[in-house]
Amino acid sequence: MALQPEGKSRIWSDVDFDKNGKQISWLRLPYSSNISAYGWLPIPITIIKNGKGPTVLLTAGNHGDEYEGQVTLAKLIRAVQPSQVKGRLIIIPALNTPAALAGLRCSPIDDLNLNRSFPGNRDGSPTQMIAHYVESVLLPMSDYSIDLHSGGRTLMYIPSVLIRRTGDKKRDAKQLEILKAFGGPLGFIIAGPAENRGLGAAAERNGVISLGSELGGGGTVGVEALRVAERGVRNVLGLIGVMAPPKGKSAPTERITVVGGPDYYVYATERGLFEPYVDLGAMVKKNQLFGAIHFVDNPARAPVQVRFAHDGMLICKRFPGPTERGDCLAHLATDS
Ligand SMILES: [Zn+2]
Repeated sequence: MALQPEGKSRIWSDVDFDKNGKQISWLRLPYSSNISAYGWLPIPITIIKNGKGPTVLLTAGNHGDEYEGQVTLAKLIRAVQPSQVKGRLIIIPALNTPAALAGLRCSPIDDLNLNRSFPGNRDGSPTQMIAHYVESVLLPMSDYSIDLHSGGRTLMYIPSVLIRRTGDKKRDAKQLEILKAFGGPLGFIIAGPAENRGLGAAAERNGVISLGSELGGGGTVGVEALRVAERGVRNVLGLIGVMAPPKGKSAPTERITVVGGPDYYVYATERGLFEPYVDLGAMVKKNQLFGAIHFVDNPARAPVQVRFAHDGMLICKRFPGPTERGDCLAHLATDS
């Protein structure tokens, strides 16, 4: 039987969130188009529930071109049996499914970036409807949210786990605890101006403890990034107590850093071809040269130099060589 979430959303499904066991199905997003009059867009959803315990919402494919999380969660869906769970897992491996199928950051249907669309709109375009469903239906029934991102086609990260600093001491301490449990080479705390249009902010508005990641990027699936993601998710589920911790000893996240305000970011000032002088993981100084933008259509013109505006470690770097004025070329983090 098809279940509607009590008129809260136009998205409906046949999953019963309160039923014990494993249900693999689709959310149905009504979308009437030129090629499908009464059709719906399918968004894969899995519920794995066993008795009482916390509810964890696991999402990936919020940006369609970030693949490590999508692979990690699809594997988790196939591997985990209800008997291994104490509580409930809600797993959506391709949250913006149209974007994930197209391998694009934004949806090809409405050109919207899901992670800039919260709190969404019940009666809006498909991406806005997804944001609204997550914010008004899924997050209110969740205790924890793990939203797996990576750099996508245009950025490459050191595989990282991240949280937002909220100013609420109890909440920040809890989030730091799960960030440390995730493991891997790097954790960062976003301490700069708050972005209130993302899933992390939606989780915060719902009082849900939230964890994010930036696992790699470049529109690829990195071997190391995937290893960090798979282990990290299991480590966090173990800490929360919704599953047994993975076998073997898990080292905590090696290095905890902070990403501050706009001066941690470097942007292209010209259109051209960017030549970086330093690579991911480098420790850099304020005013140090990062690289140069070349003008291949006018080789007589001297390249324009690009400098860092802050001390720190290079944790994220633009992936493609060609760049436009305004593109993010890199961002830094500092030890916390
Ligand atoms: Zn992303």
